[in-house]
Amino acid sequence: MKEACGVVGVVAPGRDVAYACYDALYALQHRGQESAGMATFQNHQITVVKDNGLVSHVFADTTLRALAGSMVIGHTRYSTSGSANWTAAQPVYRSAGESGFALAHNGNLTNTVALAESAGLHLTTMLSDSDLVAELLGHAVLEGATLPEALHDVLRRAEGAFSMVVLEAGAIHAVRDPHGFRPLCVGRLGEPDAPEGWVVASETPALDVVGATFVREVEPGEMVTITESGMTSTRLLEPAEGPTRLCIFEFVYFARPDAYLMGHQVHSVRRRMGERLATSSPVEADLVMGVPDSGIPAAEGYAKASGIPFGYGLVKNRYIGRTFITPDQAQRAAGVRRKLNPLRDTIEGQRLVVVDDSIVRGTTTRALVRMLREAGAREVHLRISSPPFVWPCYYGIDTPNREELLAATHTLEEMREFIDADSLAFISMEDLRTAVEVGDACCDACLTGNYPAPTPVVIGQSRAHW
Ligand code: SF4
Repeated sequence: MKEACGVVGVVAPGRDVAYACYDALYALQHRGQESAGMATFQNHQITVVKDNGLVSHVFADTTLRALAGSMVIGHTRYSTSGSANWTAAQPVYRSAGESGFALAHNGNLTNTVALAESAGLHLTTMLSDSDLVAELLGHAVLEGATLPEALHDVLRRAEGAFSMVVLEAGAIHAVRDPHGFRPLCVGRLGEPDAPEGWVVASETPALDVVGATFVREVEPGEMVTITESGMTSTRLLEPAEGPTRLCIFEFVYFARPDAYLMGHQVHSVRRRMGERLATSSPVEADLVMGVPDSGIPAAEGYAKASGIPFGYGLVKNRYIGRTFITPDQAQRAAGVRRKLNPLRDTIEGQRLVVVDDSIVRGTTTRALVRMLREAGAREVHLRISSPPFVWPCYYGIDTPNREELLAATHTLEEMREFIDADSLAFISMEDLRTAVEVGDACCDACLTGNYPAPTPVVIGQSRAHW
């Protein structure tokens, strides 16, 4: 699975907001490493800088110094839809309105065909679903709507997942879809009685790094507008019926361990997942180890609950390209070896419990097990802190076709054989919901097939349009 995207918005008169945005994007780098971008507003003008690459590659000090202004939005991108090339990097800019506007989006829309047709557009001319939204907003603004009116008009017809920040002359608007699939939070710079600015971001660590205090999450369907005068809230879209549907994989895998989601720190949630796994799927072993990064806290929880010692058995190389860059399965397996290296002294002769966050195709897991055996592991018992992944995601996470999902086409025993583990067990859906604590208020469609919002295809038959 690949991450979605990260979004940031900062309004702070008198501060170098581009530097603040840089730090916040840096804190969200894990949500997308294909491209990064910023848009600032100053002197009636919006300036956009974006490029392929990591945040640190895209923005040099000289670039940041040139990005003056008191308000900025930013984006880190992994292309869940549309093209991965430079032109699809965000923020997306349109010249409609006083100074135009720029938009940054985390999520995936599921009714792009209908949305495009409603405006007489052809999807083939759009670079991504975010580009389509910008185009539709531009049309509405050119017809005389204010940007908030245009956002209401376009987003009330949009289906799927969107946490969005939009910059226009003198204001940033932050909107979250009616289900709240993707996270979005607000923080304050300065004291409560004398705010010096406001920050919106995908995850709370992006607030921490710029010295902002977490205020609250943006509610599903809410639009938060920030100007130099302060922050206001509008009910832009009717929230969906039922609870919020925050992606449960934000807890399992995507979000940083130090992030707080719905009041719960992700690291603690992952530990509880491991504790639950230890109770439901015990095994005799010498050492519990996690697959970095998200498997580590779950392994700590497993070790604590089982009494088996915890250890670090894998070293992660953080400076290489990610395995998804290599397209075929053989290369993907090689990618695991470049990314993870076993600690032979720790592993040799040991019966290992290895805790990982998920199994998607299974090729990565199989390569991992082989690597541990070659490093001398006597037994490898895999424990997975999410239930079997059996349905594709249409809400902003890039997953393979259903036929490529190992758990969708194999029994548990067939999966164990395929990955060549001595034993294999997954956390149950019930235990995952209990560990998350707010699990009943989460989307779990890829695990249960219960899609809370319309999907763009007949489920299980083909990929989404993009
Ligand atoms: S389908 Fe799965 S990955 Fe997609 S939003 Fe729902 S829980 Fe998250």
